[in-house]
Amino acid sequence: MVAAPSRAGTAGGVETYGNFVGGEWRPAASGDLFENRNPADRDDLVGRFAASGEEDVRAAVAAAAEAAEGWRLTSAIARSGILLKAAAILESRVQQVGRELTREEGKTLKEGIGETTRAVQILRYYAGEAQQPTGEHYPSMSPATLLYTQREPLGVVAVITPWNFPIAIPTWKIAPALAYGNTVVFKPASLTPLCAVRLVEALAEAGLPPGVLNLVTGAASAVGDPLVRDERVTGITFTGSNAVGGELRKIVAERGAKLQLELGGKNPAIVLADADVDHALGHVVNGAMMSAGQKCTATSRAIVDRELVGPFTERLRERIAGLVVGDPQRPETQIGPLVDEGNAERVAGEIERATQDGARLIAGGGRLTDNGRGRGAYVAPTLFADVDPDSRLGQEELFGPVLGVIAVDGMDEAVAVANRVRFGLSASLFTRDLGRALAFVQGIQAGIVHVNSETAGAEPQVPFGGMKGSSSYSREQGKAARDFFTQLKTVYIDPPPTPVAVAERRSGGAA
Ligand code: ADP
Repeated sequence: MVAAPSRAGTAGGVETYGNFVGGEWRPAASGDLFENRNPADRDDLVGRFAASGEEDVRAAVAAAAEAAEGWRLTSAIARSGILLKAAAILESRVQQVGRELTREEGKTLKEGIGETTRAVQILRYYAGEAQQPTGEHYPSMSPATLLYTQREPLGVVAVITPWNFPIAIPTWKIAPALAYGNTVVFKPASLTPLCAVRLVEALAEAGLPPGVLNLVTGAASAVGDPLVRDERVTGITFTGSNAVGGELRKIVAERGAKLQLELGGKNPAIVLADADVDHALGHVVNGAMMSAGQKCTATSRAIVDRELVGPFTERLRERIAGLVVGDPQRPETQIGPLVDEGNAERVAGEIERATQDGARLIAGGGRLTDNGRGRGAYVAPTLFADVDPDSRLGQEELFGPVLGVIAVDGMDEAVAVANRVRFGLSASLFTRDLGRALAFVQGIQAGIVHVNSETAGAEPQVPFGGMKGSSSYSREQGKAARDFFTQLKTVYIDPPPTPVAVAERRSGGAA
């Protein structure tokens, strides 16, 4: 089925986008819209989107529930074919969608196009995974019994996503959900609904039957809340803040559904005295500052051996102060704005507070408003030294371009400090010593561990997720996604009794 265009109309040259429910693009029941603005220039209106509410959520869940049985019984090979086609459609639009991603989210064009390309790769990956075996065959106590497991979908899955990877995260949730036979109601972050529309368009045009994938845009309270409370939703996959994750835990614990949470991080990069300093510098700066630090895997603590902390911090300062911050559409720009004014103000407030708490400000330090940057949500890449590991700056995720340096004496203290936070998403170690690298892998409390590379690197074919407060003891991506998006059925098949056995049983009963 080829879907009607997502565009519901234009008003004053600005496009208006609807929800996608039951295979059709339609406005919110209320007819209300919300605005999406470019964080690099608040005068640039990206589009108007459906400001949905409970009625829209109910309709989307009903469409997904109605489509569930048909999609569950669609062959995995056919589901794979649709994902493959969606990959080709999105790939043909990578430049346009990447540019739109940059316009609504603010990361650089290179990152926007790179992320869209990643989404294409993820669709292809799950087209492949859909064709893999999904069960296991076991020996039985009875030799004649055929004993095996098969994986079945959960049913209707809610996909709730943040703004920081507005096409990759939705894709790495929706692609496996669909590959394994679930139907989906997708609620994207209100700050990045255009990428959500573009992903849904590609999947709809690839031939998804009506109701299999539904998109409802709008506010968390008006859309997210009724969605997670709907009894027909049997699985919820969420990436976002720890505060919201905690709320979802409570709601779901009461009503019962399968829940996957990907939450925050306070990711350390440990630099030992024997590290290749040039190599470590590049990875620490990129890990901390790319995407303006708005990655859950961003490096926010540089834990550096006291032997080299002085010169290393000075070189960090040079690199960070030299970063080109500006319009993310320009090729020379390395760091764009934060996602919106509210986040820029919040991070500027955290920088102020860290200074008052005694951290030593070395570079950056607040908003950037010169050279036209006053029209956008710009925050200077910021470096602090002498960070107390137990201070707010040492403990809490700021989600901005802010790096704190913590000095330690050697490897053991470094790992102890690295672990002394409530998060455990990713961690890096820079060393030339294989023994230390192996000890770090053993001792660090993190779901993703890097040796000699930045904390923010994550490939889509391997499991992704954190330990401790960063996750819900589940993993996304790679083959791990199958565990969340399916449930097991264990099947015992015994041969029917032979005619001889039946006759013997009958004659035995007569005697
Ligand atoms: P971020 O600001 O990083 O996007 P949030 O945790 O605030 O992180 O939001 C992540 C996603 O969860 C967004 O799509 C948001 O609208 C949604 N959301 C926020 N609060 C709730 C809630 N109480 N119930 C369901 N979804 C919510």
